[in-house]
Amino acid sequence: MKHIKLSSAYFGNEEAEAVSTVLKTQVVNMGTEVNMFEEELHKFFGRTDAYVTCVHSGTAALQLSIQACDIKAEDEVLAPTFTFVSTFQAVKANGANPIPCDVSTQDGFIDLNDAKKRITPKTKAIIPVLFAGCSEKIGEVYKFAADNNLKVIEDAAHCFGDEQIAKRNGILCFSFDPIKNISCGDGGCVLTSQKDIAERLKDMRLLGVIGDTERRFQGKRSWNSDVKELGWRLHMNNISAAIGRAQLAKFPEIRRLRQRNAQMYLDKLADVSEIQLFPINAKTAVPHIFPIIVKNGHRDELQKYLADAGIETGVQYKPNHLLSYFNMGYALPNAEKLYSEILSLPVHPLVSAEDIEYITEKIKAFCSHA
Ligand SMILES: *Cc1c(COP(=O)(O)O)cnc(C)c1O
Repeated sequence: MKHIKLSSAYFGNEEAEAVSTVLKTQVVNMGTEVNMFEEELHKFFGRTDAYVTCVHSGTAALQLSIQACDIKAEDEVLAPTFTFVSTFQAVKANGANPIPCDVSTQDGFIDLNDAKKRITPKTKAIIPVLFAGCSEKIGEVYKFAADNNLKVIEDAAHCFGDEQIAKRNGILCFSFDPIKNISCGDGGCVLTSQKDIAERLKDMRLLGVIGDTERRFQGKRSWNSDVKELGWRLHMNNISAAIGRAQLAKFPEIRRLRQRNAQMYLDKLADVSEIQLFPINAKTAVPHIFPIIVKNGHRDELQKYLADAGIETGVQYKPNHLLSYFNMGYALPNAEKLYSEILSLPVHPLVSAEDIEYITEKIKAFCSHA
């Protein structure tokens, strides 16, 4: 019986050897490996004018970026309710309040008409989430932010490897968690062209000790430095960076496989009337998730049908405004509709072309009887 997992890491001997090499040096804290990983990411993004700061997770990337934008207790931050809980917790970690906004049912992107209604004198920033790698509308967010004097922090956790996205000026947060496009075990990074933000991130990740990043990259310790603001131990260590470097080296293969899988879904499900596809561009984006919308109230039945055929699927995500901690007492109808209709299909590199044939055949068989 087949068993196709919804998500998976894509590790091999390269990562095992990289970890083993670091362990044997006895230097596992933040040092040369992290320095090299940041330089390689810098090259990969193709941005000589921007800075890369590696941190402990995608959540940490968001948390520290929010702090670097001077968002403080009682401030409000607009965010699409339809996202991983991490986006919301990163705001709370700064003592600020995430304000859940509705999304478009077409692409899961934040609905700016709804966001507009939720602006108050306390609103300081907006966090667009590039859901499933869909980012066509991002320009509208920057315009909206400029018109309303808000900072923008992009949650680009679904977008690593998308060339269009790396070209942008802004603050972009990526995740290298166990199942993202590349993984460090756990890790993340911030890409920004704003030097002052990057400098603060580099200190903040190391307990706020000024200049600690630079000295650690030279193999030195900081015995005599000042601290001027709240800092955290949210840096990346050498073991994680070594895993990330091995993953980055094989990213062309990861990209090819994820894009092939997504394109096969797009082609094979295009004419299935029960299914609505997201506007995912499998030529430029590198899909981390592949959600579909199952019409006519058949989502749960399809999920069960696929599970019986050995195919794991997911519901990403439960809207944050439906979670007790973030509930504001108002409904967000589009997000709630999406939540009842959405289904994520396996798209990771261990899913073969044959698997996609099998999955799409099963979906078609279900739909022809539904
Ligand atoms: C994965 C993810 C994050 C958080 O990244 P971690 O590395 O798991 O902390 C944030 N936002 C979204 C949309 C994600 O999918």
